[in-house]
This record gives sequence, C-alpha cells and structure tokens, in this order.
Amino acid sequence: LVARKSHKEDTVIVLPGDVTVGGPSSLMVAGPCSVESELQTRTVAAALQKAGVRVMRGGAFKPRTSPYDFQGLGMDGLRILREAANDYGLLTISEIVDPRHIEESLDYVDIIQIGARNMHNFELLKAVGEVNKPVLLKRGLAATLDEFIHAAEYIMSRGNTQIMLIERGIRTYEKATRNTLDISAVPILKQECHLPVLVDVTHSTGRKDILIPCAKAALAAGADGIMVEVHPDPATALSDAAQQLNIDEFNNFFNEVKASGLYR
Ligand code: PEP
Ligand code: MN
Repeated sequence: LVARKSHKEDTVIVLPGDVTVGGPSSLMVAGPCSVESELQTRTVAAALQKAGVRVMRGGAFKPRTSPYDFQGLGMDGLRILREAANDYGLLTISEIVDPRHIEESLDYVDIIQIGARNMHNFELLKAVGEVNKPVLLKRGLAATLDEFIHAAEYIMSRGNTQIMLIERGIRTYEKATRNTLDISAVPILKQECHLPVLVDVTHSTGRKDILIPCAKAALAAGADGIMVEVHPDPATALSDAAQQLNIDEFNNFFNEVKASGLYR
C-alpha cells in the first residue's frame, strides 16, 4: 500500500490550519527533546511562532537508555505542549510508546510520533494504524530501508494512510556523529514510496555544528521537511543537552536553510 508502484502520486498530508506535508512547501518541525515545564515549552513556542514555524515537537514519553534518566512528564507533558501550541498557533507532534495511551493522546497531538526504538513494535504500529491521526514514523536504529517501509505498511494496512517517514540516522562504526545520517535513504524512500519523507538532523548527527549543511543536503536530496531540537537553555536540558540548539542558534539555522533556496 505504501509502494509507489501501487499509488503513483505523492501523498500530501493536510494538517489543521492547512499545513501540508509532502506538498509544494517544506515543513520545519522544531522544539525541545522533552517537554520539561510550562515555561520552557512556552518559551520555545513563542520563538517558533516568531520564526514562522507551524509544527512544534516535544517529547512527553521519553525512551531513555537508562531507567534512572528523566522519563518525561507523560500526559501532563502532552497537556503542556498542547496549551503552549494553542496559545502560539502551532501544531503538535509527540511520541507515543504505548498503545494504551493513543486514545487519550488524540486531543493533544496533531501528529503521533513513533520513535526509532519502536519502529519494530508491530502491535503499536497496528494500533496507530487504526486511528484517524497523522503518524510520523522514525527509522529504527539499525533498520534497513526494506524494514522501514514494511513498518509503514503495518500502519497503512490497518487503514491509516496519513504516514510520514523520517530518516534519523542509523548505527554504524563511525564515532564522529551520534548516528550516521543516511542521506541516500531520502531519494530511495521517495522512489519506493509515495509518502512524505523528512530528515531529523539532530538525532542523526548529534552535533550542532553540522546541522546547516546536513539540512541542506536533506532538502537537496528531496526531503519534504526537517526536524530539529530547540531548547531555551540546552545546557540544563533534561535530555539530549549536548545536541539541542538554543533559540538564537535555531533562528540562524532556519534563516540559513531558507536562504539556501532549497526550502520551499
Ligand atoms: C525523539 O525524536 O524524541 C527521539 C527520541 O528520537 P529517536 O526515536 O529518533 O531516537
Ligand atoms: Mn532528543
């Protein structure tokens, strides 16, 4: 169902407020790794509105390596994200990790994110396949493109056709970046599937100093959008402190990406 051979035209996802993904305009998804507080979330929301961003991310259920690390604010985090987004005219995207949370999350998220660690969680994929809500599916940490495409097929086979794919880097032997951004995934996914394809420059690289060229490369390769993490004070962030942009850095990043002429 997700294959280009079964459906020739590009899928365009229409979000509330006529924001489209996969259509003529590029999408910038920005926001903190985790929702930490009302103030932190509202500070980012205000900056994003000012920059002209339409979709804010913020994790509430965090898939952390250690069980002793900050696990996210859960439903309270989703409420904080929704309120900040409403006040600043933004849409929301947040990761859901448990099928039991899907129903309740529908009031708070405009896009459900399936995280890299859950790309192979087939029961979760089936569950989000049964709701009428766009889904952003992240590529697994070590997933082949064929496995990634099949994960999207799990969702679509249950009836939900509103799926966006996002390359977020894969594990390789390279240590210079947190993961290896597989830029070739973009044209391959665009060729093989009719779904919008985004690139998460933050989690793929884990380094702030190369985000601009990586975002340009993603757009030049045909990506429909970019995801990037932004925090008012990254040094104090409760997750991914080393890789989030502060607000000035984000504004510079977004301006440079737009100035490249690759951001439609
Ligand atoms: C995230 O985007 O919040 C995240 C945890 O990323 P990933 O699932 O790609 O590791
Ligand atoms: Mn993160």
